[in-house]
Amino acid sequence: MTIDLGGKVALVTGGSRGIGKAVAERLYGAGAHVAILGRDQGRAQEVATTLRGKGRSIAVRADVAVAREVEEAVALVEQELGPVDILVNNAGFTKDGVLVRMSEEDWDAVLDTNLKGAFNTMRVVTRTMMKRRWGRIINITSIVGLAGNRGQANYAASKAGLVGLTKAVAKELASRNVLVNAVAPGFIDTDLTRDLPEQARTALTDQIALGRLGTPGDVAGAVLFLASDLADYITGQVVVVDGGLVM
Ligand code: NDP
Repeated sequence: MTIDLGGKVALVTGGSRGIGKAVAERLYGAGAHVAILGRDQGRAQEVATTLRGKGRSIAVRADVAVAREVEEAVALVEQELGPVDILVNNAGFTKDGVLVRMSEEDWDAVLDTNLKGAFNTMRVVTRTMMKRRWGRIINITSIVGLAGNRGQANYAASKAGLVGLTKAVAKELASRNVLVNAVAPGFIDTDLTRDLPEQARTALTDQIALGRLGTPGDVAGAVLFLASDLADYITGQVVVVDGGLVM
């Protein structure tokens, strides 16, 4: 059985690199029209241009932490592609440090993008999803939000918050057939993890049951599944994609 998202409109935040880029490619490959949102319009446009096929693809610029920019970006997507059917909240970043040395700015910056960013997008796109009685929201959290990690208090809190947000909104919107789930990747080989020293990378790999870091494509597969009608009876869940790191 092949997954067919023909005609659906997908918005992928942080779709210009890493996991978001792979997600955009997979959704597009399944027939969706795809909008790629990022702060760097040029980079988002480069990815949008590589998506060639039946569907349409566009790039939109916004900082997800800024509600007004998100409103404007979604309005542009609706104008160009139509109302958003599938929202993937993938934009996120880290600003690590041990708690005692973590500045208020670093706390706020990470929470604003990783958690408030998802609130900003969900609040806007769910208006039309509710009216149209169909919607899929997939929030990219992290195993760090489930298990914690030293030096990542802000990041872990933002990702744990995203799990709570996912479950609360899943309960609110289930009666409107808007399904809200999260995907929690483990360690995925992207720009975000590329700076990891070789020794740390090897130590980490030793803890992963499948013996390797994940690829963006590994995460994109789970997102595609949750966006599809194969997942019609799944909401409020966290799908862990970590190669068996946390069991
Ligand atoms: P990357 O750093 O490779 O890409 C991040 C993407 O998010 C970029 O497209 C970036 O584009 C965009 N972005 C960042 N901040 C903002 C913002 N404020 N507004 C809009 N777009 C933004 O990250 P990954 O692909 O590794 O990670 C993607 C998601 O997966 C993140 O939420 C991350 O926390 C999560 N994750 C990653 C793991 C990993 O091991 N890599 C593990 C677990 C979770 P631009 O800079 O142009 O805005």
